[in-house]
Amino acid sequence: MRKGTGKYTKQLTDLLNKSVNIALICHHNPDGDAIGSMLGLNKYLQHRGKSTVMISPNQVQEFLLWMNNINSVIVNEKKPGQAVKSIKEADLIIMVDFNHIDRSGKLKTHIQSSKAQRILIDHHPKPEIDVDLLISEPEFSSTAELIFSLVRDIEGEYYLDDDFMSSIFVGMMTDTGNFSFGTFNGDTLREVGIMLDNGLDKDAIITNVYDNFSINRIRLQGFAIYERMVYMEEHHAAYIYLSRADLDRFKHKVGDTEGFVNIPLTVSGIVISALFIEKETHIKVSLRSKGKLDVNLFARKYFNGGGHANAAGGKYKGTMEECLAYFEKVLDSLKNSKA
Ligand code: 5GP
Ligand code: MN
Repeated sequence: MRKGTGKYTKQLTDLLNKSVNIALICHHNPDGDAIGSMLGLNKYLQHRGKSTVMISPNQVQEFLLWMNNINSVIVNEKKPGQAVKSIKEADLIIMVDFNHIDRSGKLKTHIQSSKAQRILIDHHPKPEIDVDLLISEPEFSSTAELIFSLVRDIEGEYYLDDDFMSSIFVGMMTDTGNFSFGTFNGDTLREVGIMLDNGLDKDAIITNVYDNFSINRIRLQGFAIYERMVYMEEHHAAYIYLSRADLDRFKHKVGDTEGFVNIPLTVSGIVISALFIEKETHIKVSLRSKGKLDVNLFARKYFNGGGHANAAGGKYKGTMEECLAYFEKVLDSLKNSKA
């Protein structure tokens, strides 16, 4: 059993009681946990009579568009005026699921210059964000699970609204890869149990999240595995790379490559996998590992990024060719330094 979240209750309740307009902000390229956390917390705060706005730095991925209230999320890339105005009007800003202000993209300067009180709710290690209340619990499976626990502490009982539970479950389920990795434990599953006892429609959620791919996405996955996966047996590594042309060929939509980085890890003996995606200005890097190999440190050191011990990401400035050569060189040097 992990430690509870009761130590935050008083300060969190005070800040909520004092505020009228609350802006919720998630990270760039929001995943299931970022969106689930934001929608869930939004639902709870509205239940408490607060006026709320939800802001994402950029577009929400296709596989999350079925979620209730998702259309209320203001996407800064599409409506910067509305996003900035909402931040200016807020007397409380709650950031969810990120540990470095750069993850808020172009919202960064507006968050920093706001006079509002600021809260961070997150489960990544070593947060580096200046806030009035820091709620950082890396032992939690997901920020969504952390929110489920914080709300229970505030209320004195579980809050079991249907949309709230559904959002929290999406965060827990996606951040643990369907309860297979990450820092989930008995508490996580007990909380899922409580939600199931109270009407959580897990089958509908699983179908919506995992069985909703376009035919192009599945074909892109097949292509990625067959044509674009490099196996580095000696390094216990494998990676997948996709160029813009590859993505265009399969009429790529935001979110289509979600989960690809986990595929190489299913090969026996592989302990580190990477996914490289060509973007307009850089190569997006995703890293996953098994066991003690810490890709958070790896991403911080070599790819100007971060994340968790077994799931992290970053960026490379340069061409795909250069990026792949660099990655292979880094793995070589790590192997040699251990030898
Ligand atoms: P993904 O590979 O799924 O994009 O991200 C995996 C994990 O790494 C997530 O926890 C995410 O927040 C983190 N992450 C991904 N990209 C970056 C990045 O550029 N910088 C930092 N600090 N974290 C990242
Ligand atoms: Mn998360």
